[in-house]
Amino acid sequence: MAVERTFSIIKPDATRRNLTGKINARFEEAGLRIVAQRRIWMTRQQAEQFYAVHKERPFFKDLCTFMTSGPVVVQVLEGDNAIAKNREIMGATNPANAAPGTIRKDFAESIEANSAHGSDSPDNAAIEIAYFFAGADIVG
Ligand code: ADP
Ligand code: MG
Repeated sequence: MAVERTFSIIKPDATRRNLTGKINARFEEAGLRIVAQRRIWMTRQQAEQFYAVHKERPFFKDLCTFMTSGPVVVQVLEGDNAIAKNREIMGATNPANAAPGTIRKDFAESIEANSAHGSDSPDNAAIEIAYFFAGADIVG
């Protein structure tokens, strides 16, 4: 299996409830390493650009409001098959459909406030990592 890097965000609903350690423990227990990490408060412009692929969706405006409603933790996870593994650990977008033991099943408040983001493909992982981190910020 190839070692990959993927981009992860701990969303404002989770930072508000002081869940960053509990969420990151799930990644580490599954063998993913946090190789870059920063706590930030996203600007509206950053959120709109980050989620630009969803700009025609009815939930886009609310999503950007939510993502700028508090601090987030942006991070890079590294490990075997990291992109798919991260998505598996997070669970389905809607916590009502997420498998038992996943982050979203255990922590999400709603389909919007679903505690974590994870890249969905190698191309998007590279784009999303580069949006928040310079190469020198990532220490594997
Ligand atoms: P994922 O984060 O699982 O990749 P998407 O890329 O489809 O999901 O959506 C991005 C984010 O937009 C979701 O994580 C969630 O916060 C929000 N979202 C998705 N679908 C809805 C919806 N139907 N209503 C409200 N918010 C949504
Ligand atoms: Mg997505």
